[in-house]
Formats: sequence, structure tokens, C-alpha cells
Amino acid sequence: MSTSNAGPDNLGPAIQTADIEWRDGHPVSRTFGDVYFSRENGLKETRYVFLGHNRIEERFAALKPGAAFVVAETGFGTGLNFLATWRAWQAYAPSDATLHFVSVERYPLSLEDLERALSLWPELKPMAEALHQRYPALVKGSHRVVFAEGRIRLTLYFGDASEAWSNLRFTADAWYLDGFSPALNPGLWFERLIGQIAEHSRPGTTVATFTSVGAVRRALQAVGFAMKEAPGFERKRDILAGEITHNPSLASSSDRHRLPATANRDLPSVTIVGAGIAGALTARNLAERGRHVIVYSAGAMPADGASGNPQAALYVKLGVDYGPETQLALRALLHAQRTYSRYDPEHTRFWHPTGLIQLATDPKEADRQRRFLERHRYPADILRDVSPDEAKALSGSPVEMGGLWFPDSGWLEPPQLCRWLLDHPNIECKYGHTVTGVYAQSERWRLSFSHGDPHLSSQVVLTGGHRVASLLPEGHLYRFKSIRGQVTELPTNCIQNPRTVLCGQSYLNPAHGDYAVTGATFDLKTQDSAVLLASHQQNLDSLSRWLPNVWSKRTPPAAADLSGRVSFRCTTHDYQPVIGAVEGKGEPDGLYVFTGLGSKGFALAPLLAEWLTDRLCGEPECLEQALVSRLALARCRIPLDGA
Ligand code: SAM
Repeated sequence: MSTSNAGPDNLGPAIQTADIEWRDGHPVSRTFGDVYFSRENGLKETRYVFLGHNRIEERFAALKPGAAFVVAETGFGTGLNFLATWRAWQAYAPSDATLHFVSVERYPLSLEDLERALSLWPELKPMAEALHQRYPALVKGSHRVVFAEGRIRLTLYFGDASEAWSNLRFTADAWYLDGFSPALNPGLWFERLIGQIAEHSRPGTTVATFTSVGAVRRALQAVGFAMKEAPGFERKRDILAGEITHNPSLASSSDRHRLPATANRDLPSVTIVGAGIAGALTARNLAERGRHVIVYSAGAMPADGASGNPQAALYVKLGVDYGPETQLALRALLHAQRTYSRYDPEHTRFWHPTGLIQLATDPKEADRQRRFLERHRYPADILRDVSPDEAKALSGSPVEMGGLWFPDSGWLEPPQLCRWLLDHPNIECKYGHTVTGVYAQSERWRLSFSHGDPHLSSQVVLTGGHRVASLLPEGHLYRFKSIRGQVTELPTNCIQNPRTVLCGQSYLNPAHGDYAVTGATFDLKTQDSAVLLASHQQNLDSLSRWLPNVWSKRTPPAAADLSGRVSFRCTTHDYQPVIGAVEGKGEPDGLYVFTGLGSKGFALAPLLAEWLTDRLCGEPECLEQALVSRLALARCRIPLDGA
């Protein structure tokens, strides 16, 4: 695992929250000595300055069905601008269009302050409640929050604006420059930041800001915005608004942040190979954004491979160092919890947020957890340490050690989840289709099958675990590992059922129906796909070691009486997932790989599928470039000399 970034402020995930003073019921920043919004009528002023001078309502109304529009903002604050834009979207945009709102916040409001501030606007109540419910944990970096059945996608970066704009990939249609006043917060108005704003713009991008300070106007003009002053809201000072007519930085800078002007929803259908969790989440996400998707699967139903166990714990292991792998794992876990709650809000389909305890089952793990907690501050709503008594009370089972409690985690029913994800009018599933290879043909990709006609597509995503390696075009040699895992189903009358997921040297899920799933083995040496007695015994022995009092009759059941399931996880040499384009000389774009999820697929896949869909649709990307580039396929390439 890599070491964390240098600097005391970078040592952990938690971000400092806003220091707020309430004056006449209105929030004021103690740090900056400025108001979040006008005390007369903040909502009206937002509509006048930011929406009005970006011609938001008119532009929303003019969008083509299925189009996407990107608003970017400096200073998320209370989210008032976001909610006002969402409201305008509801009123004016076509019902199947998508709004991306990309915002940054250096000092996020606490949940309590956010709720109090937004209670000022009864008209925005339903949206404020939704924001309150899904407001990201106060952790640094980029968070993607989805509202209104996928029509509103908020990318909220907790950190400094300049860091956000250099880490995120997007092109704005309209900018709201809403930091505190330049006199009180000069850092937000540096020329460098204005340069970054231009890099995320295109000819036609508009900007509005509440200030008319000359230095800000000149900096915006210098990067290509034609600026004009406009009267301020009610008797207030003038404001600035403008539009990029030419953009000098477009010609000179790399195209790192450049995306199609407005994402084009008239794109052809996307082809996905594999109907496990990676394929199903990507298909659903694309379908939600109006794309037609064809899913090919060799099996007769979804999730017949590594995603098909009857129960799966939603679990990641966070490192003592807060390096990129832990950053990705944490962000993915939080996004997974939000995604499954959005897809199954009543917890009746496949998601059981029972909480999860990672037990300190031996001195080594206890020491690791102690160092982990000493080193970093994690918000308690993500995780906290619990004593043996608390662990016992929370889980209702005879645990004898403390550990880390993840209150919003839990377990899933994978086959039900994958089936539900693929059940969408924009998704066409073709089961019993074994893909044998993918070849470049003109500007597209041709899929061949063990029987039947080939299929041509300009965008193809290969999921399906380690089999991906054998499907890639000639000259693409990559190495993945396939690791056998057998789970064991424990009849409920054999065990004292936990109420929460318990993770130790293996895991035990709360019972569902007649049994609780434990496992899984991690077999590097055998590729046997049959359920083996020896593997059941291994699962029983493991559970007896770290949870010796779990057996209701004091001893475990006989292995021969138990059922289970075998599958093969796909992993890589560095145990990190693989996602991104397949790049070959002279080959067309549009072929992607999404695999190597190991045993963390249910936690990692929702965020990675969200990012991949952003990329496939040419929309703002939800993950920092630095985190995604580490997951590229190239690192798994087998050197040509076979070394
Ligand atoms: N748009 C907000 C709303 O709708 O409530 C109000 C924004 S408030 C006037 C300015 C915000 O910019 C504050 O929340 C402040 O913490 C944030 N901010 C100030 N400097 C920043 C920086 N360098 N990077 C990111 N955010 C910053």
C-alpha cells in the first residue's frame, strides 16, 4: 500500500467543517466574516444573479430531449444555488434530460447547519430533504450524489477549489462564481483559478458572479470571457456576467478536461459483455441516462459467476495509511451505500443495511485497528471503534472482542440485485450467448459468438472476470488471477444468528430465510468448480476460531450436511480493480474493460460503474483523474518477452 500524502492537512479523510454563526436565523461564516446569501431574500437573489445571468431557464427550455447540461459552481455552501437550479430544471428542462451540477466546498456545512439553513426556503423543501438525506459524509475529495431518478447528478468536491478543478474532468455550460467576497477571500479569485475555470469551459460557456471587482473582470476577460456589468439585485452593487467567445487556453492546453460541448444523447447503443455486478450496474446506469444497452451473457440468467452467491457483505478494508487505494475504497463504500439505498429505499428488494462489524479477532488485527484509529480521524457516521460489550449488543451474538463498527453498511442479495438492475426498458439482455472474441472492424468493434451472427458496436464494455483476458483483440496480452472461493450455508438452527454482518478471518451474514452464509475460502491452488467437503470444513474451522461460541449446539454441524456454492473471483497482481479503455495502435476507441474486482465487487462497482458511464456519455466524471488512472488496464500487460 502506498503512503499517504505529505502535510498534516492531508493525513486523513475527515474535512474541517464550516464555522457558522447564526444572525437573525441566517448563516454567516466566522472564518471569512461574510454571509452565505443575502439576508433580504437569498433565493430571489440567487435566481437573479446566477440563474438569470446565465439564462438558465431559457437554456433548459431549449434543450433537446435526452440532453445533458453542466452547471459548475465555486462554493457549494448551503446548497441554495444547487436547489434553485434543480427547481428550474424541474420546471423547464425536458423530462428525460440530465443536469450535472459540479461544485466545490473547502469548509462543508455540518448536516445540522445545512438543514437549518435550507429550512429558510419552504418552496425548496422536498429537494432540501433529499439533499439532507444524501449529503455526502464529510470526507475530502469528490462525491457523486444522484437525485430525481438519475436526472440530477451532483459532483461535490470537498476540498480547495484549485485542487478540485485540477483533479476533475468536465466541461461546464454555465458557471456560478459564488465564493465569499474577493476582499474577504482573495484565495478563491486568484488568476490561476480563473485560468482553471476557462480550461473547463468552451465557446458559449457563460459565467455570472455577484461581484463586479475590476481584478475579477479583467482576469475573466484575459481568459476569453466577454464580460459586462449588470445592475445588482434590488439596490445592491453591480454584478458581472459574461460568455466565452474565444478561449486562448483551449488552443494551448492539453485536452485533459475537454469533453464534448454538450453531451450527446443521440449516441448509439452500448454493448456489455457479462451480467454480473459490474455489467449490471453499468447497464443500469447507462439506461438511466437514456442510452440503449445490449447485454450478452454466456449463462442462462444474471449473476451466474462470482456475483451469484446468495449473500454478499458490503465490505472494504481501509488501510492504516490513507493512500490512494484506501481513498478509493472509502469513497466507493460510501457511494455503494448511497446507491443501494437509492435502488432499494424500503430495503425490500436486495439491500439489508444491518451495519457491519470488523472484529479485532487477533492481536495483529487489534494492533492494526489501533494504529488506524490513532492515525486518522474518520467521521463517526462512517465508522467508529466499539468495545466487546458494544459489539455484542449491536450484533446480538456472542462475540468476545471489539472492532470497527460501520453503521451504514450491511449485506446484499446479489442475484436479486443483478436481476433488478437489468430489468429496465432500455436494457436488452441476451443470455446463452458466449462471446469468443472482439475484433476491430472499420471504426467499430465486432463481437463473435460460439454460435450465431457477429454483432457490431462502437462502444463495448467487457466485464465477466478473468475471461476478459481471452476476449481481447490480438496483441493485447493481459494477466489476471482467478481465485476459487466456496461459501457455506449454515442452517439457522445451528448458529446464534447475528443481527449485523460480522467480519473476522472470514465473514458471517445475518440469517436470511433458512440459512446464513459464511465464507469464502480463498483457494490459490485449486480450480475445482465442484462444491468440496474440505472447503466446507475450512469455513467451519475458520468460524470456530474467531467466533467459537456461535454454534447453538456448541459444536459445528457436519460438513457433509451442508450446502454451498463455488465461484471464481478475478483479481490482479496488485489486488486493485481494472477499469478503462483498451488502447491499441490503429484501433478504434470505444473498447473498455471493467474487471479485477476480487472479493470487493459489491463495494467497488457502483462508483466505478458511475465513472465508466460518465466516460461513455462524455459527461462530467465523478472520480479524480489521479485515482482513476491507477486502475488502467496497461499495468496488467504481460511483457512481450513473457517475463
Ligand atoms: N453557493 C452557496 C450557497 O448556495 O449557499 C454560497 C456560497 S458562500 C457565499 C461561499 C462558499 O465558498 C463558502 O461555503 C466557503 O466555504 C467556500 N469557499 C471559500 N473559499 C474556498 C476555496 N478556496 N475553495 C472552495 N470553497 C471555498
